[in-house]
Amino acid sequence: AHRFDSIPMAAPDAILGISEAFAADARAEKMNLSVGVYKDAQGVTPVMKCVKAAEQKLLETEQTKSYLPIDGLPDYRHAVREMLLGDEFPADRAAVVQTPGGTGALRVAGDFLATQCAPTRVFLPNPTWANHSAIMRAAGLGVETYSYLGADRRSLDFEAMIADLSEKTRPGDAVLLHACCHNPTGVDPTAAQWQQIANLLATRGLIPLLDFAYQGFGDGLEADAAGLRTVLEHCDEAIVCSSYSKNFGLYSERVGAVTLIAGSPAATATALSQLKIVVRANYSNPPRHGGSIVATVLADPELTRMWKAELEEYRLRITRLRELFVAGMKEQPGAPDFSFLLNQKGMFSYSGLTAMQADELRTQHGVYVVGSGRINVAGINEQKVDWLCRAVADVM
Ligand code: PLP
Repeated sequence: AHRFDSIPMAAPDAILGISEAFAADARAEKMNLSVGVYKDAQGVTPVMKCVKAAEQKLLETEQTKSYLPIDGLPDYRHAVREMLLGDEFPADRAAVVQTPGGTGALRVAGDFLATQCAPTRVFLPNPTWANHSAIMRAAGLGVETYSYLGADRRSLDFEAMIADLSEKTRPGDAVLLHACCHNPTGVDPTAAQWQQIANLLATRGLIPLLDFAYQGFGDGLEADAAGLRTVLEHCDEAIVCSSYSKNFGLYSERVGAVTLIAGSPAATATALSQLKIVVRANYSNPPRHGGSIVATVLADPELTRMWKAELEEYRLRITRLRELFVAGMKEQPGAPDFSFLLNQKGMFSYSGLTAMQADELRTQHGVYVVGSGRINVAGINEQKVDWLCRAVADVM
């Protein structure tokens, strides 16, 4: 008998399915606000100029394609440490491991927690990036949730969040926090709230697990690291999973890192040895190209300047699109007020559109939005903001 005949078909990825439908839509006027990548004014996800320049340089200077060390390129790891922690943080208390994207970082962190910190559970915000729960379960961890988004679906229910983290957790549990630009809601804690969160994590003995996929998309590169740094002022131990898919536009090159902060240099070295065991059993060692690009850009002052300017352009474009959309909706008679979008950070926001309205937007107007109502602000075409606002007002 065949072993594979009775395997049930898995559900297709919800968001990727929307993009397929968008591509097949023959209407001249259409807009895709569903995808999770940055788009420029022409609707394309560009290769950054600093990346092209770094690749040019690598083409001329790269000597080998031999394996990288298990924990990745030393220059890349150094650059990641500085981006995350600044140059003051003691380097011997932070072990950086290069991973295939932020997803790889999360899986390495999950496996590490499951094997070295059992019986830890991981608490995820509700809602969160859809893959978090799948990754943590695959690592064998128990997954729980804590309250995050308020009933208004546009602001943080901080009281409920603190109550859950105080009452539902046990010491030793891990708490996943989006370091900035919460996906899918765009709702981030304030500086004062980060202080309270950090204090709670420290006093309850919880392990901070920070997912940092959008550094530079919120308030700026340094400003976006403020929450993480507040956590580290209170907690001696933490794990950061960072991604350079978005802020270097290196999506398909798979560039990320897991950074483990421990209480002493000796504990850091020991933890690193265990992280390497996890890597070895998962993918052995990370891909070279993307990490080399990031390391090349950040080792060269001119390329670094270019990168910061390009990233800032992305960030400001998103902010401008938020403003244009909010202003456009104000002109639609009877439409709800969208000013809350101005307080939200990063590419994503919960628009407040229901699944039914999202459906209608797609069928009646050719505007593609995820069923949860999440919109990718970067997907808005500046020339068609009026058209978009009329469509949104029509279905609401
Ligand atoms: N974490 C969050 C919150 C994300 O939104 C994403 C990507 O969309 C990731 C992690 C994973 O990033 P990567 O593509 O680098 O694996």
